[in-house]
Order: sequence, then structure tokens, then C-alpha cells
Amino acid sequence: MKLILKIYLLLLVPLAIMSCNTEKHIEKKGIPNGPNIILLIGDGMGLSQLSAAFYYGNGKSNFDRFKEIGFINTSSIKHKITDSSAGGTAFSCGEKTYNGAVGVNSDSVSIPNIVEILSEKNYNTGVISTSSVTHATPACFYAHVVNRGMQDEIAEQLVESDIDFFAGGGTSYFSNRKDSISLIKKLIDNDYVINPENDLVTTEADSKYGFLLASDGMPTMLEGRGDFLLEYTKLALNYFSQKPENFFLMVEGSQIDWAGHDNNADYLIAELLDFDSTVGVALDFAEKNQNTLVIVLADHETGGFTLAPDGSDYSIMKPVFATDGHSATLIPVLAWGPGAENFKGVFQNNEVFHKILALTK
Ligand code: MG
Ligand code: ZN
Repeated sequence: MKLILKIYLLLLVPLAIMSCNTEKHIEKKGIPNGPNIILLIGDGMGLSQLSAAFYYGNGKSNFDRFKEIGFINTSSIKHKITDSSAGGTAFSCGEKTYNGAVGVNSDSVSIPNIVEILSEKNYNTGVISTSSVTHATPACFYAHVVNRGMQDEIAEQLVESDIDFFAGGGTSYFSNRKDSISLIKKLIDNDYVINPENDLVTTEADSKYGFLLASDGMPTMLEGRGDFLLEYTKLALNYFSQKPENFFLMVEGSQIDWAGHDNNADYLIAELLDFDSTVGVALDFAEKNQNTLVIVLADHETGGFTLAPDGSDYSIMKPVFATDGHSATLIPVLAWGPGAENFKGVFQNNEVFHKILALTK
């Protein structure tokens, strides 16, 4: 599939560059005052998952680098236990909604998301995930659909979105679709360069970049996904930092949740450690670029995961699961950078949106 995309690229990129419209440049209203925002979502990462980094990691966890810490209640509007789309919509749109909703309120009406709002304020924006880019969590940052299963429609909305950089899986929602429409061609028509070699990601042509690297979800860490999340986070940060405007980047460790559903501790720990390393990339960037706020959180906990003794033997710690679904446990929020102190305390998941926006006047 990647080869087919590359052929597309060879055929269509010169055209795309020639037709590259400068509308966005004309609309730009100067450099925004707020900080850059890197929002890292470990889907399904409760306190015990996060704690696993301290017991199973090699060396120091990057979670250890935070001083400003809070807790969120993640309940959706009708259910104490949320799904990822209601949880994602709370972060991206600032409202609690029903399980399954993507960027719509409890009356199924579209509500503005943070990417749309910050793009108006002249931020550049990006999403990266280890799921398909059309999966519930990333979708909440650019799409509005009444049900998360509508991934063909979600893909169509990505094509028309304000997103400047995206990376993840999901090729099958863009090409070889049931309706035979090639969304790859439409992406290129809309100034996206799709799957270029990484060293060709530059700001020179005012292009936007899209990386679709698997048919659906990305491979698991145990299958050898390698440093995808870490490397594409670096790539996005390098791209955004070459631009004069500020940026908002959402990075999701999607499969911490999938491992929790599978009750597979090895899978979970591998995904969690990958996410931990990616948090380190964000913090390293923020340390060098002072005006950057890093926020790490989760939409909910998955698996009722904990680190328990083996029977009553406290000399042996072993991962155990209480459910193959989500749970209602409060979720830690870790923040670093300008405004990080605002994320201390105990609050509702949708407050995260309002706290971010309050910093980006
Ligand atoms: Mg997710
Ligand atoms: Zn889940």
C-alpha cells in the first residue's frame, strides 16, 4: 500500500506544489501570544498503568519529570464510565457528551473543537496516533460525527480539516474505499504531501503533511512497531518549530487501551514504555523551547489494571486485570511549562479544554 501511495506522490506532488494555495498565509493574523501545546493522551492509561513505567522501565521514567499534577473525573454525560470518543470530545470540545460521540454534543450537534478554534488564532495543528488517524481519539480533534464507527466520514472530514500534520495508520479509509473515492487524491489537492521521506518534510512550500503508514491501526510494539510514535513526534515538532506561528499537537498512545481490553500485560507495558519515551521527547523539546506547555493525561482507565501481590506474597508484584472494559477511576494529569500550575487539583475532563484555551488568548 505504501508503494501505491508513493506512486501517487510521484505523479501528483509536482501538481500539488504548483496548485498550492496561499489562502492560509493571507488569512494569517500574526503570531499568537499563548504557548505551544503538546497534549499527550495515553488511551486507557490509569494510575497503575502509569506506575508500571516505574517498575518495568529501563532507567528513569519521564513521568518523574513533572511537578504539577492533578486528577480528572472522566465520566461521560450519561455514564460514569466513558468511552474514548466522549472522553476525547471532552478534551477537544470542552463538553461532556454521550459515549460514541465525536465532536458533537449530547443533542448530536457539532461543536467547535480546539483545532478549529486555535487555527482561527493562527496556531498550526497536528495529530499523531498509533491507531488509525480516523479512530475515536484523534478524530475528536478534527471531525464531527454522531458515532465513532463512521470512519469513512471521519476520513472525509480530515481531508477538509485545519490539521497541518498527521501521522498514524488508516490507509484503508482513504483508498480502496467502498465508494471508490480516492481521498489520497483529495488530500493532495488540498495541499497535503502524503508519505514523503521524512527528510523531505520542510516548511518551504507551505505544504501540510500526512503519514498513513498502516491499513488500519499501526502494528503493536510487540510486533515491532519500533520508534514510530517517538520519531513522528520529533518530526512534527521539528516541522512546527520551523514555522513562525505557535502550534497545538495531540499525540496518542492508542494501544495502551487495546492491551487493557486484551488483558495482556506484556502488550500493555510495551505500549506504556513507548508512550513514556514519547513524553520524554515532548519534555526535551519544551525544555529547549521555553514557550511550550506539555500536558499528559488519559481519556479513561482500561482493564481495571493494577500491580498486585501474588496471593499474599508481597515479595512478588504481578500485573492483574479486573475487567476487559474501561473503568471509572480518576485519571492523573501531568503538566509542564507555562500555565502548568492550572492543571493541579481535582476537576472534570472537559475542564482541560477550558484550561488550555484560557492560556491561548
Ligand atoms: Mg484512542
Ligand atoms: Zn477502550
